Amino acid sequence: MIEFKNVTKRYAGNQALDDLNLTIPTGDFFVLVGPSGSGKTTTLKMLNRLIEPTGGNIYFDDKRIIDYDIKQLRQQMGYVLQNIALFPNLNIQDNIAIQAESLGWPRKQRVERARALLQQVDLDPDTYATRMPSELSGGEQQRVGIIRALAIKPKVILMDEPFSALDPISRKQLQDLVLQLHHELNMTFVFVTHDMHEALRLGQHIAVMRLGHIQQIGTGTDIMQHPANDFVQGFFENEHAPRPTTVQDLLTKGYGEASTATPTLTATASVSDLAAALKTQSTVVVATDQGARQLGTPDLLDYLANKEAD
Ligand code: ADP
Ligand code: MG
Repeated sequence: MIEFKNVTKRYAGNQALDDLNLTIPTGDFFVLVGPSGSGKTTTLKMLNRLIEPTGGNIYFDDKRIIDYDIKQLRQQMGYVLQNIALFPNLNIQDNIAIQAESLGWPRKQRVERARALLQQVDLDPDTYATRMPSELSGGEQQRVGIIRALAIKPKVILMDEPFSALDPISRKQLQDLVLQLHHELNMTFVFVTHDMHEALRLGQHIAVMRLGHIQQIGTGTDIMQHPANDFVQGFFENEHAPRPTTVQDLLTKGYGEASTATPTLTATASVSDLAAALKTQSTVVVATDQGARQLGTPDLLDYLANKEAD
């Protein structure tokens, strides 16, 4: 079990975390979610003591983390970053086994462990073990980043926005992979993201953070059904609101005609911006990559009528 008790962190006058209290059960998949600057990375890095708190205490299995030998503490906490940064001059199996090597594991055991982990994430060891990092795709490198963190069997895996640089398909695959690994391994996962969808998809428990304060802790269902305040509700709704249709959609469908007038709207404006502008003007000129195009009320009505039909 991990517990934060009255933890604060100040950086030169900036209160990054204020009286943080948090319990993470052993074996949980715990997600910290919140907008940028809310204190997620600070919270995570305090667990492996990359950042020391200004006040309060953190306990890991009932012992204060400052009372652990720092090397032993870090061996129990695998760490996965957004940019995995594999060592470019080491092949994949040596990258995976780097911590095992520093702990003095014999070579045969290191190679076996690396190959077993590759197998576990569907990277054929015969193909991948001796490849160099540059010979892998971004998604494959991130798989290796994850199994590298697992190599010496830590009790806890810390992940800081590990998928935010990936395309949506790779991201989905890796979310499935971490869920599978969590299911197969007896480890606690602490996962940071700014994406509420990702939090809801992965987390058994979710802590919603804002400006160094926890707004709510609960299961995804708790938070969805009973948001603790307007911030949580808004954060959740924004994530689920359909994206506004943009003027670009009309242009893509062939509405409007070329114009030489000065544009007053961009193609990324929403359809409601266009409607507002058409209340006071008979036509609106939109800037596009292919030059200015003008749209009138008939275009908008026609577009909306067709959209309704399909
Ligand atoms: P998140 O990961 O949620 O984006 P962080 O934990 O990185 O948030 O940052 C929380 C707050 O602390 C932010 O206001 C950030 O600017 C500030 N902060 C983080 N690291 C430092 C630092 N090394 N020095 C000063 N301020 C920092
Ligand atoms: Mg961060």
